[in-house]
Amino acid sequence: MSVLPYKNEPFTDFSVEANRAAYEDALKKVKGDFGKHWDLLIGGKRVKSKQSIKSIDPASPDTVIGTVGKASKAQAEDAVNKAHDYYMKTWRFVNYEERARILMKAAHAMKAQKHELSATMTYEESKNWREADADTAEAIDFLEFYGREMLRLGGAQNVEPWPGEENNLYYEPIGTVVVIPPWNFPLAIMAGMTVAALVTGNTVVLKPASGAPIIAAKFIDILLEAGMPAEAITFCPGSGGEVGDTLVDHPKTRMIAFTGSREVGLRIHERAAKVNEGQLWIKRTIMELGGKDGLVVDETADLDYAAEQAVLGAYGFQGQKCSACSRLIVVDKVYDKLVKKVVEKTKQLKIAHPENNPDMGAVIDAAAHGNILEYIEKAKKDGNKLELGGKAIEGGFFVEPTIFSGVKPTDTIAQEEIFGPVLAIIKAKDFDNAVEIFNGTEFGLTGGLISKRRDRLERARREFHVGNLYLNRKITGALVGVQPFGGFNMSGTDSKAGGKDYLLLFMQAKSVAERW
Ligand code: NAD
Repeated sequence: MSVLPYKNEPFTDFSVEANRAAYEDALKKVKGDFGKHWDLLIGGKRVKSKQSIKSIDPASPDTVIGTVGKASKAQAEDAVNKAHDYYMKTWRFVNYEERARILMKAAHAMKAQKHELSATMTYEESKNWREADADTAEAIDFLEFYGREMLRLGGAQNVEPWPGEENNLYYEPIGTVVVIPPWNFPLAIMAGMTVAALVTGNTVVLKPASGAPIIAAKFIDILLEAGMPAEAITFCPGSGGEVGDTLVDHPKTRMIAFTGSREVGLRIHERAAKVNEGQLWIKRTIMELGGKDGLVVDETADLDYAAEQAVLGAYGFQGQKCSACSRLIVVDKVYDKLVKKVVEKTKQLKIAHPENNPDMGAVIDAAAHGNILEYIEKAKKDGNKLELGGKAIEGGFFVEPTIFSGVKPTDTIAQEEIFGPVLAIIKAKDFDNAVEIFNGTEFGLTGGLISKRRDRLERARREFHVGNLYLNRKITGALVGVQPFGGFNMSGTDSKAGGKDYLLLFMQAKSVAERW
């Protein structure tokens, strides 16, 4: 199968009038479709459910974007049984080129309706245009990248020759994969995990996040239109607390691909380790979890640039990225100056309904809103100095961009993931101390250094213990194929999504020797 070399999907330039007009049109179209319902998809058939999940606009919580069926425990059970059945009888035997071709075709379809997908996230997850556009581009990249990766990994692999025998190694699928994504990259991460499992020949039971079911439903429609057999992909929305254990514990579940919080991830990992009756394998898990990501700035840095990069990393998508800059670690010599610059830059951020393309929209839901405000109160009680923000804004789940300075490395807001627009600025005595603070949490996802000193940049390469290190730039925005993504320590199993090792995690290798 001949395909063009992989290339990242370009971001849309919204300074071009025609692109702005196209996005406005997409917003109108998506709005016109509000209220639509998607049933569950189990065993290749649309299935009704007793309850449904209502997806709302976080920036205007009375607005219902749409609804999806909500699976019961019995339906979740049935979903795994049927997905396993189709895997055993059909999907695992389908040629890898045929599977890859569906991804290529689906990527093509996504490009054609790119702005509609992004506009859906502008309403459903409160992503401004740039953030939504980047999410869609990343999702397209995953399809294009994993499609090509399967072409590389399909068929006989290289082994050493042996006289008198033919020896081969083949990568085979492993079974039914339960895919549990977070709501924050509701298209990219959900699609990435789903198609990685499918293209490698596994069947998927997808349980989208409750805050992001509509974009997932639209993606499933695209996959089906591109020719994915309906039996291979199960759409099984449900409350994590209600059907999560059923999906994870099921003896026919072969693997769980999870991205989300540390708390839920560790629970799933532990449950997956237990062998249940009728189970023939040791379950695999991919666990990509939270972060407490730090950016170190030393005295040689260009402080205007450092402030700009810190603010981009801290407040993009309201700080709701696992890679968000939530700790800014500044050496004493330039601390006061940089705090001032960061505060000034942050003051310029505009917050509004994301359909108007501000810098920031709302946070995902009432629970997150309450949680972030609680962290802010806790930070005040701990004696951290509130430099900016700290309050809710009326109308939706809005929180002001918030900055605390004088934060001690061991304070709660320097250790726990807040997942909102709250930046903790920490003073380091010197660069040695900054390295120590940087590595002083249980997480290890992203982080960076802004410095002009070669020796320090080299030291950061060696000693900053994170899965994704960024030098002299913001610490968010990993590109598929370019910066494979995944964290160390409690940030997860470092599966490196969007990298050349990723698909192997969904397969097992069979070695075949035939003597002549
Ligand atoms: P979450 O852990 O609350 O939920 C993640 C998913 O798990 C959702 O689909 C949810 O419905 C489901 N779930 C909840 N309880 C469950 C249970 N008992 N059993 C099975 N499934 C269950 O996380 P979230 O709020 O959706 O996402 C934010 C978190 O995700 C943050 O911690 C963020 O850092 C992390 N994240 C990590 C990465 C990464 O690549 N490391 C990327 C994005 C987000």
